[in-house]
Amino acid sequence: MQKETIFAGRLRQAGERISSPRLAIFRMLVRKGPIYVPRLVETMERSAIDSATTYRSIKLFRELGIIRDIVAGGKRLVELSDDYEGHHHHFWCRRCGSLIDFDSAAIEKSLVRVAADLGVTISSHQLEISGLCARCRTDSQ
Ligand SMILES: [Zn+2]
Ligand SMILES: [Zn+2]
Repeated sequence: MQKETIFAGRLRQAGERISSPRLAIFRMLVRKGPIYVPRLVETMERSAIDSATTYRSIKLFRELGIIRDIVAGGKRLVELSDDYEGHHHHFWCRRCGSLIDFDSAAIEKSLVRVAADLGVTISSHQLEISGLCARCRTDSQ
């Protein structure tokens, strides 16, 4: 369980306890990928973890860079940061709501050029890309 090792290390480094609710929430994030926060809270309640605990853990995870927010269809979702999932982007389908992970060497390379043109250093980036997925595209023809 390499992801849990990174997670435990991050908490320890910050002087935070690796409590069982925190571990349970982390495991749910590993399993459910990008998830809408109220949905995560609801799921954890079913495992007898109250909403205050989940909200507090989300706040802590965000501060420690364990999770990040992504926006899809105007909704804010949380997912594990690049330390756990590797760097990637999402495409959101406006019709069926599916979220597709992808990475693109071409995008990453263009950003290096953009940074050089602007004379800046880019330390992180997120892209919001939406449209119709392959299936919905076919259905609409
Ligand atoms: Zn779709
Ligand atoms: Zn990227």
